[in-house]
Amino acid sequence: MARIRVLVIEDSLTVRKRLVEVIGTDSDLEVVAEGDNGRTAIELCRTLRPDVITLDMNLPVMDGVSATEHIMGHFPTPILIVSSSTNRGDLFKTYDALAAGAVDVLEKPRAEDADGAWEKKFLAAIKLVSRIRVITHIRARLGSVGRAPVARLDTPVVAPVSWPPTGEARSVIALGASTGGPGALVDVLREIPTGIDATLLVVLHIDEPFSSAFADWLGVQTGHPVAYARGGEVLLRSAVTAIGPKQDQVGVLTGSGERQFDYVVLAAPFQNVATLLPSDESAKPLNRQLANFEPSSITGIHLWFDREITPLPHAVLLDRTIQWMFHKSKFHESREQADRGSYIELVVSASKSLVQKSREEILELATRELAEFFPAVLEAKLVKATVIKEIYATYAILPGLDKYRPMAKTQWPRIFLAGDWTATGWPATMEGAVRSGYLAAEALMESRGHGKKFVIPDLPSTGFMKLCW
Ligand SMILES: Cc1cc2nc3c(=O)[nH]c(=O)nc-3n(C[C@H](O)[C@H](O)[C@H](O)COP(=O)(O)OP(=O)(O)OC[C@H]3O[C@@H](n4cnc5c(N)ncnc54)[C@H](O)[C@@H]3O)c2cc1C
Repeated sequence: MARIRVLVIEDSLTVRKRLVEVIGTDSDLEVVAEGDNGRTAIELCRTLRPDVITLDMNLPVMDGVSATEHIMGHFPTPILIVSSSTNRGDLFKTYDALAAGAVDVLEKPRAEDADGAWEKKFLAAIKLVSRIRVITHIRARLGSVGRAPVARLDTPVVAPVSWPPTGEARSVIALGASTGGPGALVDVLREIPTGIDATLLVVLHIDEPFSSAFADWLGVQTGHPVAYARGGEVLLRSAVTAIGPKQDQVGVLTGSGERQFDYVVLAAPFQNVATLLPSDESAKPLNRQLANFEPSSITGIHLWFDREITPLPHAVLLDRTIQWMFHKSKFHESREQADRGSYIELVVSASKSLVQKSREEILELATRELAEFFPAVLEAKLVKATVIKEIYATYAILPGLDKYRPMAKTQWPRIFLAGDWTATGWPATMEGAVRSGYLAAEALMESRGHGKKFVIPDLPSTGFMKLCW
């Protein structure tokens, strides 16, 4: 597999040496060049087209924000900001760069971090960021017109809100953004009028030291009063190993010990739920229902050709094993121009027939079938290929299965079920999973005496569908 090509931009020689050294320890990565200022970053990015850039914010000649704006405006490349979180000025620059299209941010290594944790985080972040699809940000091309308002560092910090709010229930708008999301978050929030009669809850993936001042910056950028919520806790890497219903609470056991909760919504896949239920008689009815489920696999076949095999961005391939074609290089506009090849992903749902086949057999079958639709495949050279079999991708929709799909409410008054496999009336899809969450919330509210409805009713059937339903 080709190594991920990294450009390192950092003005401190000591820190730069450390970054380069750490990258050198991973055989999947290679440093293609290093530089110490924003202008060099732009020039090296233009000529070398790295897969990912690690970029400091405080740089001589041209700072990291301006370099990010230029790069994202002219030759978009995934950028990992490696910066210090020591003062609000630095933090605000980092957020400006994220809004300009940089993908993620990581704190610089500190002398006292000796356990190798930072190094692991850095290498994982580079790999993750290199996989993010970036798009052209036109801000740099627009000049000051497209620029975000300048963040004022003396803006007062909004007092933390108390949650849950007292008094009347209010409408809530929930937004979630992951790696690469801050820019989109700013755009969306700017479109929402200030003073609307709703509370906005935002969940964002961002390295911990950079999180608290982000609320202040977001407030300045969007005009909404923003407060950093404290009090809740998200336990990461804490797989649940058992759930124990008690009279007034539910005990949840994880690797870090047992915690008590008022209610639990169990949203794990069906095969995992069976292992978490209490081991006494009370779980028998649900276990009997779960015994009727079978997993269904999905196989992804990734093919890189040396030339374009079709101008289509995607296609549904009928009456063959391969089903869906996604022309992934079409989504990487800058890279497509750079190497004129085709990166294709084929997706095969319910891929039972492929599970026992070897990688070579699957590739032979996939390329043969693909050539039937796109004859250019016969001339093209397959540069590399990957096959990913997800054996437990979803559950199989077997005849009669619907009657075994459990409702959100269980025999334990404080435990509720969610997941695409529960009784949503929908197949194994993201929509089905979302609806199961609403249904679990409805069941929980009902158990507390609040008959609230969250599921949005289906649209009425029209046209041909009206004849069927
Ligand atoms: C390759 C692939 C392609 C797909 N394509 C599509 C598509 O195009 N369109 C579509 O609508 N759907 C698609 N699906 C299906 C869709 O992703 C699922 O229907 C949906 O994600 C199910 O959501 P869920 O919340 O029920 O379960 P999941 O998304 O599986 O979430 C369950 C979560 O529980 C966690 N978990 C499990 N055990 C434990 C434990 N012991 N402790 C703590 N956490 C635990 C898991 O880590 C996981 O995060 C696809 C699925 C796959 C695998």
